[in-house]
Amino acid sequence: MITRFAPSPTGPLHLGHAWAAMVADDLGKMLLRIEDIDQSRARPEWEAAIYDDLHWMGLDWPTPVMRQSDRLTSYTAALDRLWDAGALYRCTCNRRDIQTAASAPQENAPLLGPDGIVYPGTCRGASRTGPRPDGMALRLDADAVPNLSWTERGNPRSMSADTFVRSIGDIVIARREMGTSYHLAVTIDDAAQGIDLVTRGEDLAEATPIHVALQRLLDLPTPTYHHHDLVRDADGRRLAKRDDARSIASYRSSGWLAGDLIAHLRRSRIAP
Ligand code: GLU
Ligand code: ZN
Repeated sequence: MITRFAPSPTGPLHLGHAWAAMVADDLGKMLLRIEDIDQSRARPEWEAAIYDDLHWMGLDWPTPVMRQSDRLTSYTAALDRLWDAGALYRCTCNRRDIQTAASAPQENAPLLGPDGIVYPGTCRGASRTGPRPDGMALRLDADAVPNLSWTERGNPRSMSADTFVRSIGDIVIARREMGTSYHLAVTIDDAAQGIDLVTRGEDLAEATPIHVALQRLLDLPTPTYHHHDLVRDADGRRLAKRDDARSIASYRSSGWLAGDLIAHLRRSRIAP
């Protein structure tokens, strides 16, 4: 299987990253991808630190490494195709607009999807003809998404078109300031790299139907998915979402040997 480890160079790698890289390396031939579409936060020194920490762990990967900031024309081509199919519309709402519109008619709290509040559809009527708008957020019309199926750790998974509309809705696939999004970039790049087994933390599992939807709409193959458990601290809290998670570099500088750190993670998945 071809797997990948896809960190963002926006800070030091921590133990959650170490575990994600180990799973990718255990389950297949691991490719590396630098997910640097957020150019306001990506830094070359963090990219260099990624290579350094992974080499320290004893991992290796083919070069050249794919870097998402080099791939914007591929994302643009995919957006053009979805736009031409009438599956996208521009959205000018800010967070506050969405919150207000989503709470207005109901007594219940707005429904939460993988990207926050399920979009209430305010801009759905925006024109979908003419050239694709540039420099604006673009949403994927959930009505364009068919029934979906994929495989997670050997088990069949599915989501009906109807459930997608209700629980995920019209997600942003091109952000105004990026011209792409995590969802679009990851889907296109997994296909471009020939990834047939996507391994990543279980905190990203709920994004999978979005990626499978984009695969269907763009005629891309659907890889198998394996969402792995997360590294926790001694109190059982997930490290992946915590800013104070200790970096691999800090274990290195306090004298840990890679083999000991790796053995510890394999044994317990609890941060030492
Ligand atoms: N770039 C993402 C991260 O740093 C991982 C994306 C993925 O594995 O799909 O958490
Ligand atoms: Zn809008």
